[in-house]
Amino acid sequence: MKLMLHVAPGIVRQPLIASVILETEALFNIERASIDAASGEIVIEVSPDKCQEVKRAFERRGVHVVMLENPVVRDEEECVHCGACVSICPTKTFRFENWRVVADSGKCIQCGACVAGCPQRALRLVLK
Ligand code: SF4
Ligand code: SF4
Repeated sequence: MKLMLHVAPGIVRQPLIASVILETEALFNIERASIDAASGEIVIEVSPDKCQEVKRAFERRGVHVVMLENPVVRDEEECVHCGACVSICPTKTFRFENWRVVADSGKCIQCGACVAGCPQRALRLVLK
């Protein structure tokens, strides 16, 4: 399960990830991180059995956490199955199956590359 962590300016310099790992003993993978001195946006992959515990641990530290259950949505009416998103996506969320593009949105890390690259403007990110 992927979690999106929104880290506010007031806590961005704290060792949040290290302290959550020590508390929960969860081994999670950082799949995307955009962090500067002012704020941070981080996507982590956590095993399903540890997901809620990790989520609560971050929330106690003031991090806004969103579970990315369906992070990218495609408008089926607009998609022409051109395959541009298959080439663009760094996590192989899209693939061809019988000449049609199908998606496994559980792989998406919300980088936004496919949204910008779709010629039909058929893709959008679900930001909660
Ligand atoms: S790039 Fe857009 S139109 Fe092309 S297959 Fe992907 S979603 Fe469909
Ligand atoms: S936003 Fe698009 S390109 Fe980026 S990981 Fe998700 S599906 Fe792939």
